[in-house]
This record gives sequence, C-alpha cells and structure tokens, in this order.
Amino acid sequence: MDEQVDVCIIGGGVSGLSTAFFMKDKVSFKLLEAGATFGGVMQSRQEGDYTLDLGPNSCVMNEALQQIVDATGLQGKLEIATQAAANRYLLRDNKLHKVSPNPKEILSSGYISFGAKWRLFTEWIRTAKKEGEETVAQFVERRFGIELLQYVFEPVLAGIYAGDENHMSMQAVLPVLQAWEKEYGSVTKGLLANKDNMKPRSIVHFKGGMQTLCHSIGTVLADSAITGAAVTDIHPLEHGYKVTYTDKDKAFHTVIAQRIVFATPYAITIQLLGKIEPRVKSFPAIEYAPMGVVHLAFNSEDLKSVPEAFGFLVPAQERKPFLGCIFSSQIFPSVAPEDKVLFTLFAGGSKKGASLFYNTDALLDHCCNDLKSILHIAGAPVMQHIHIWPKGIPQYNMNTQPTRTFFQDTSKHPKGIFFAANYYKKVGIADLITQGKETAAAIASSL
Ligand SMILES: Cc1cc2nc3c(=O)[nH]c(=O)nc-3n(C[C@H](O)[C@H](O)[C@H](O)COP(=O)(O)OP(=O)(O)OC[C@H]3O[C@@H](n4cnc5c(N)ncnc54)[C@H](O)[C@@H]3O)c2cc1C
Repeated sequence: MDEQVDVCIIGGGVSGLSTAFFMKDKVSFKLLEAGATFGGVMQSRQEGDYTLDLGPNSCVMNEALQQIVDATGLQGKLEIATQAAANRYLLRDNKLHKVSPNPKEILSSGYISFGAKWRLFTEWIRTAKKEGEETVAQFVERRFGIELLQYVFEPVLAGIYAGDENHMSMQAVLPVLQAWEKEYGSVTKGLLANKDNMKPRSIVHFKGGMQTLCHSIGTVLADSAITGAAVTDIHPLEHGYKVTYTDKDKAFHTVIAQRIVFATPYAITIQLLGKIEPRVKSFPAIEYAPMGVVHLAFNSEDLKSVPEAFGFLVPAQERKPFLGCIFSSQIFPSVAPEDKVLFTLFAGGSKKGASLFYNTDALLDHCCNDLKSILHIAGAPVMQHIHIWPKGIPQYNMNTQPTRTFFQDTSKHPKGIFFAANYYKKVGIADLITQGKETAAAIASSL
C-alpha cells in the first residue's frame, strides 16, 4: 500500500536532513536516502586511531546549526577549532607566508611584489564598472591586477570551490565585492566601510567526524528517514505526487506526498524533475569539480617547524597536485593520537581535471613528497589514505546563471516542488542548514 505523507524529501545529505529536521514537528514526511548511510558527501571514517573526514572537515557555526546541536544532544561531541585556526598561510616558491589583513604587515610581507602591493593600496582610485556579469578573473584583474588574482584570489576561491577563476561567475561567488564596487566605487572602500560588521565566526567539527552531525539528525528523524531508498520515478497526481523508490533488496515502494523536496545532486535532480518539468533538461548543466581528499599522518617528533595554523592554500602557479592543506590535528586534536600529526590535503579541482586520479598511488606519493618538502618533515608517513570524489563541489560558472536563477526563484517552480541543495546558491554546510530551515518554513506555510 502507498504510504501517504505531507512531504517527501529526496536525498539525505546535510541539505535534506536539515530540511527534515526543521519540519519534523509541523508536518508528516518521509526522507529517502539512496546511500547506505546519511551524509551524502559528508562522510567520515575511523582508520585505526585516526578520524578521517572524507568530505568536509569543518564548518562555521551559525544559529540554525546551533539549534540542531542543542536538539540532538550533540553538545558533547562539538569541537571548536583551537586558536591555531586563526593563522592561515599561502604558499609561494615552496615557502609558507602568513596571511594578514593588517596593511603594515602586508607592506612588509615578501609574499607579493611591490607592484602588487601598489595595485592593492591604489584599488580605490580605479573607476568602477557599472554593468555586466564578469568572471572572477576579469573582475579581480581589472581591480587588483594579475598577481593578486593568481596569488590571493585564485587560491582562496580554489580552497572553497576547487573551481576555475576563468569560468566562475563573480556575481555568484563573491557578490559582496561586486556590490561594494557598485556602492562605494571600490572594493577596499567597501571593506573599510563594513569592517565592523565582519565578525569572525567559530569553526567547528564533531567528534567521530563531520558525519556525526548527519547520523545524529538521522537518529532524531527516526523511521521517517530511511537509507538504502533510491528514488527512481516521480509521477504527478491531481493533488501531489507519487514517488517510487527501491529498497536495499531492490523491491519497489511508493510514497504519496503533497510536496516534494529535491535534496539530490544536480544530475539526479534534473533526471527526476525532468519527468515533471521537461524544460529543465535544456538548462546549461552545473558541473562538479573532481576532488581527492588525501590524509597523511606523521610522528610528531618528525615535525620540527610546522607553524600553528589552520593550514595553507596553494596558488595554481605553484604547480602542486593539491589546492591546500589543513593541519587537522592542530585545530581538532581528537582526530589523531597525541604523538601524531594529521594533515588533510585537497587534490584536483576543476583546473586539474579528473586525469589526476588515474593513478592514485602516484598522486599519494606526489602529495606526500611535496608536503614533506614544504613543511620540512623528516620521516615517512605513518598513515595515508585517499578518497576520490569524481563529482565533488558544484561550480557556479558564468554560463549557469539561468540554471541557478531557476532554482532560486520559487515562482518558477512547479506546484508543490521545493529544492534544498548546494548547486544554486551556497556550498558551505552552515548556509545549507539555514537554507534547509527556510525551505522547511516555506513548505509548512504552503500546506
Ligand atoms: C571534498 C569536499 C570538501 C568540502 N569541504 C567543506 C568544508 O570543509 N566545509 C563546508 O562547509 N563545506 C564543505 N564542502 C561542501 C559541503 O560539504 C557540501 O556542499 C554539502 O555537504 C552538500 O550537501 P547536500 O546535502 O546538498 O548534497 P549531498 O551531500 O551531495 O547529498 C545528496 C544526497 O542525495 C542522495 N541521492 C542521490 N540520488 C538519490 C536518489 N535517487 N534517491 C534518494 N537519494 C539520492 C545522495 O546519496 C546524497 O546522500 C565540501 C565538499 C566536498 C566534496
């Protein structure tokens, strides 16, 4: 017999789970997750004494996440990043340079040339461009010059999106800088005018890995959320939709729901939604950057000169296989035994492409040798691990603006269809949890 609910949520990553969490006391629902566990790309694994996050390694705390932590009893598992996390580094000529927002320290830093410093401090005199969408590369080069693009903006954005600045839309990934240019005529003027509003947010992790958060939400949702349930079809009814899914034994089941939330990756969403709204099939596709998450652990005694820090980012100009490295056990000591140091490296990205992952042994060796050379590590790793995401992070590229606009604009959606996902607005976990909360509120008021 068909199960009848108010809402069916497809996908049990953090987007789908948080949407379900915030609607659980208001409506009846069923969350269907295809994988064997909840979490989507938020996967964690215990490897001996190490906790490895195979996807995201931390997130910022916000109100919606705090609500989940409090309601799921996760306070005891919440880890706030140590003081070390305040220090960030960038790599140039195989040397680490500390990042500082302080103008005096920027002036005395050897990280960028005199010419780039001049471009930075004279940005405010450059005339503002008023119209038209630009790539990140076009905007930043126009305002700050090529060196700041290559050595500051490119690695910072690669650290978030693993993307390509020549394709990423400025309006999608750094809208605030564009807005400052429009309002104040300059990014630096906008920064100065708004600096009091920019409070640092705490960075958090969960004991047992980031997936602990998803497991805990799944537990609170109880039988209303199930794993091993892959949705294969959605069929419109007079009032609502009929959702078909297969269970772990490949048996078919159906759910009748008035509302559907798509919390699935882009390609799956288009495949299922295309049956209800065929025009989505002609949208410019959202691509995902391929990524490899590499874990390397060493004996503490083999590390003599590693700074206390969150980690470092690597400009593409440095020609390393990885985009950045997080000093995981320095910021979250629970992830490794006391006498060991755990690093997490992010390899690949849109620019390097998937070919980097054809030979994972060679990639691991390459990452390890480069890390040892940068941090002057004497011994061999005591643990190494690699996880590949063929489709890691969605790319907000220039050509995808109509696609992203469709998903953001609720007036364009078929009746009863909602979205909660990372391919149209934000990719960060805290933002996705807030988005889930908003989606839940919109659904509750629509019923
Ligand atoms: C390597 C990596 C590192 C990252 N690092 C960070 C970080 O440090 N901090 C941060 O804030 N963000 C980070 N991010 C981004 C963030 O983790 C993601 O944006 C977020 O977790 C995506 O969650 P989601 O629920 O939207 O999508 P997903 O996690 O992709 O979940 C979608 C779910 O849908 C399910 N599904 C698919 N098809 C079906 C079907 N037919 N039926 C039912 N279910 C289906 C999938 O199994 C999956 O569980 C990182 C991402 C990656 C890949």
